[in-house]
Amino acid sequence: MVKVTRKINQGATLRQATRLNISKKVNLRQPLAKNNSNPHININKFFLNQGFRQINSTNINLTPQSIDTTPQGIDTASQDIDAPIVQQNDIQNITQGESFAMNHFQEYSFDQDDNISDNNQENYYNQENYINQDNLNQEEYENSDDEDISFVFKNKYDGLRNVPPYHGEAKPYFPNKSVMLMFIWCTKHMIGSRAYQDLVKILQHPDFYASNLPLSITTLKNMRHSLPLMTLNSHNVTINPMDTPSTSASFKEGYTFSILDYIQRIINNPTIYKELYFGPGIEASERLELWHGQIWKESSLFGETSCTIGNVLYKSGDFILYDVWNESTVNQHLGQINGIVISEKNSKEKLLYVQKILYYTDLPGNIKSSARLSQSDNYTVWLTEDREIVHTNNVIRCVNIWLEDLPVPTNYDYRISEILYIHNNRAKIRPINKRHYQLPYQHNINQNSSNLRHLKFFIDLYFDDFGAFGKAYHKLGGLYIQLGNMPLLMRQHLKNHFLIGLIPFGAKFEDFIKPFICQMQKLQEGIIMTDYYGEKVFISGGLGMCTADLPQGNDMAGVRRHNADLGCRSCEITQENLNNMQFDIQANSRYCHIMDLYFQEIKQASTKSAKENIAKQHGLCLKKNILDHLIRNRYKQVPQDPYHCLAGLVRRLFDETFRVMNDDGHKEFVKFWRAFEIPSIWNRLQNPITHRDSYWMNDSLRLTMIMPFILIRAINHKHYKTEFINKIRDKYSLDCWVKMAKACKAVFKAPYIVTSNYNDYTLLKKKLKQVTEILLKVFGETFLSLPNLHIFRHLPEIAINFGTLINTSVFTKEAVHGLYKRVILHTNKKDISMDLSRRDNTLQTVRYLLDGGLDSRYNEVNNLFTNIAYDTSLYKLFDGWYIGTSVNTKEENINISEISSNHSNFQNIQVRGLWKSSKIQNQGLSATLSAENLLTEFTRVYKELYNNNGIIIQRHINYYDSIQFIVRSKTDSYTNIILRVGEAIDVEDIDSLGERSYALIRAIITHKDDYGRINPFLLVNWFYKNGNVDPATGLPIYCLQESDDNLWFHLHPLIIVDQQPRVHFVHRCTGHCSEGLHNKNNMEYILNEFYYLIM
Ligand SMILES: [Zn+2]
Ligand SMILES: [Zn+2]
Repeated sequence: MVKVTRKINQGATLRQATRLNISKKVNLRQPLAKNNSNPHININKFFLNQGFRQINSTNINLTPQSIDTTPQGIDTASQDIDAPIVQQNDIQNITQGESFAMNHFQEYSFDQDDNISDNNQENYYNQENYINQDNLNQEEYENSDDEDISFVFKNKYDGLRNVPPYHGEAKPYFPNKSVMLMFIWCTKHMIGSRAYQDLVKILQHPDFYASNLPLSITTLKNMRHSLPLMTLNSHNVTINPMDTPSTSASFKEGYTFSILDYIQRIINNPTIYKELYFGPGIEASERLELWHGQIWKESSLFGETSCTIGNVLYKSGDFILYDVWNESTVNQHLGQINGIVISEKNSKEKLLYVQKILYYTDLPGNIKSSARLSQSDNYTVWLTEDREIVHTNNVIRCVNIWLEDLPVPTNYDYRISEILYIHNNRAKIRPINKRHYQLPYQHNINQNSSNLRHLKFFIDLYFDDFGAFGKAYHKLGGLYIQLGNMPLLMRQHLKNHFLIGLIPFGAKFEDFIKPFICQMQKLQEGIIMTDYYGEKVFISGGLGMCTADLPQGNDMAGVRRHNADLGCRSCEITQENLNNMQFDIQANSRYCHIMDLYFQEIKQASTKSAKENIAKQHGLCLKKNILDHLIRNRYKQVPQDPYHCLAGLVRRLFDETFRVMNDDGHKEFVKFWRAFEIPSIWNRLQNPITHRDSYWMNDSLRLTMIMPFILIRAINHKHYKTEFINKIRDKYSLDCWVKMAKACKAVFKAPYIVTSNYNDYTLLKKKLKQVTEILLKVFGETFLSLPNLHIFRHLPEIAINFGTLINTSVFTKEAVHGLYKRVILHTNKKDISMDLSRRDNTLQTVRYLLDGGLDSRYNEVNNLFTNIAYDTSLYKLFDGWYIGTSVNTKEENINISEISSNHSNFQNIQVRGLWKSSKIQNQGLSATLSAENLLTEFTRVYKELYNNNGIIIQRHINYYDSIQFIVRSKTDSYTNIILRVGEAIDVEDIDSLGERSYALIRAIITHKDDYGRINPFLLVNWFYKNGNVDPATGLPIYCLQESDDNLWFHLHPLIIVDQQPRVHFVHRCTGHCSEGLHNKNNMEYILNEFYYLIM
């Protein structure tokens, strides 16, 4: 579900504003009403007859007063249907136009409904109505005779100004005719500034000839048909009449793009193709990508599951005996192969990813028993959940092991009836059937074509439901895919979400998704395609994961909604046990083969109520989800979404925290919140006490990062009225926030680090457990029954399965769906899913051509698209458009700024906010270099930078508020960086490897040296650890170097910073600080370790 955006909120206020206008118009009617020839009434009559739809198709002027705004606003909207750029400004304009239209609809629809039968009658009726209303108004007017009507004008705007006249062809108002015509056009159609800038760039291009343009926009739009568009298929979907107006048909066309077409296109897009990862799972200490996760490592659909050692083929599911070296001694271990992986260091060597099996002697003490001892005499061994990496040369041989929930094999060396696992730090045993079966091995992969390169695609299906807002005909669900083979950075681009289709309101998911299921089945079997280099490749793949909001996720797993009893898709926990920390997740997990038996029971039950009973008993839907036609583990591969989960919990914690405060507490809190030194890249949030309902998930998560500090300040403040608030309660709620902030940071960590003595997954588990415990302790009544809190118990396993939890978060996916939903306003709303799908087709095709993609109809890639992005006068056309590349890779276009870069990886440096001399003085600095002002530091830096030992002759320097530049990384990717004065930066310490040093930017300086180069510098004060820890948060305290303390150099070249700052320091306030004004003598700061960049 997508939240209403702030944009739409703005629309709402606009709407209100319009309403005010209209009520004014109602008053204006008063003297006119008795006169039938009045044009205003006539227009109203006309309007009543024609109904609302007319507004969209023809430009009827609703009232004379609105001539200059309303119809044009709408006109812009309808013209923009196929317009390629979704500009913020434009959306705002459109929203405005739209809200005018909607508003009139609301105003008039009532009359419209009343007047269906007879037009004459209805007009008469309505006129009478007006007259009655007018009489009422008249009365009100007369009664208000004694009202005070005096007022004072505040300001004057517009009017006649003393501006020198122009003397050219368009005198006296415009310098020339072009400007005049553009002015009229922009005013008429409410052109946004970015749309205008783009147009100017086109018009001023030397190759542009106005005479080449078609007169009709339809002709222009039809140009799309010559592009290599994808096929948009349609099939009939049933529409549930309950959900839509009764007049609509019971069938609708559902439009879908084929996943196979996407793959075909992607392997012919050189920009994407070269970035994709195909191969076995990778065992790495930094786990960031999906191929670092266990699902990839253990699935034949994406990773590798077999390898030949000597002459023997080992494949996943096989049991082996292998050597484990411990210094000079060697032990023989048993294990089950789960997959084949490679290490990050050596991609050539294949390693076995093995699930460990223990002999009786290796069992923990509390598990050993005489019964198990005698079992072990009978060759029984125990399966564990631990994975181990085994080098192929340590493999001794295959062994046969009978897993006792399977039929007895003809011969076996060992048998397993139990699994050893850890629950709440204690070893436990569960029966062998309570395990996840390995996904079926793909036999159908055509071995004949084994000489072809084999590309396995990991498909991530995202489904967004219809959403609760808007008119029924605006609602639509979205079905998107992402490729798990793309690195995370790429997956986070909006353009790398590929639309399968938009589900019309009232249509069923199962109905709509059928073509996708068929195409995915083909993909599972594998097909041969030709790639960008003209080589034949063998393509296969499968459904890697399905992501969705909480309720839809349960649907896709075939589990009842989360508020039902047994409504967890990962385990069988009852509602009453929901947050019982003793509940044993592993012993009660949902295992496909066990649930399949229940589904079988449901199917065989004779009556509907019997079916429902069985389903209810196990928390299952009546049928398996249609996605089960594909190879998957529906409980593991529909991961929970951490964003919704955490944002929901945080929201609850806000409610609880503010509920236990009284009004004075609220005031105090808001005071400190307002004055708080938030990171400069954040937008100011709305008041969390009164407006948190309008918060985005991101807003809530951000506030969480600073919440502990605000609470500390509010509590510690000397004017704090302690008698109003239960002190102990506050201490606890502070503790809740500290632990919540830690948990959030751990959840959204990327990458997760795993080494021999450090494990982020274990830390995640610990932090989630700590926050759960304190929430239940302090706010038990509220949190005890929350499914979100229970999800915490599953998050660590999800992180292990998919590498990180960012990989399963639907945040950007939701943003994409939101983008589509906003475009609805540009369409004529007749067949939204068709219009939007075709628009997406045009966009993705243009993107494909920009990326250098091949068109199978032509032999060569020689189209203007591939060059246009590098045209200096045009490349900005693609700036800020999500389908374009964010930064161009051809350097000559980038280095357009006159500020010298001291390093070739630093480009396009721009400064903003030149300081005035008063500001320079206030900061104790000077615009002239001198012995007292930085000269020594400058001399030193120039010596280091250019090996320049000379005396600096040019003594003038400029100070700025901010600096912006682009950094090219080792991997040839570009990062846009902005630094601002007052912001903390982190710099890699050269002396102690890996350690980071922190500094506060005091000033950004440019200096034109004696060679005419303008060099950028940072003037900083360094933070240094003073060894203390803040008792409330447990975070380290740093001191800030004083400006006159020269122990560390203050001046540095810009190039010490090569990434967007990701640190946040908070002043350690004392009684001498008041809101916003911190005691300058106190140099102690807390490093906010709760801070992270939300991706
Ligand atoms: Zn569960
Ligand atoms: Zn302070």
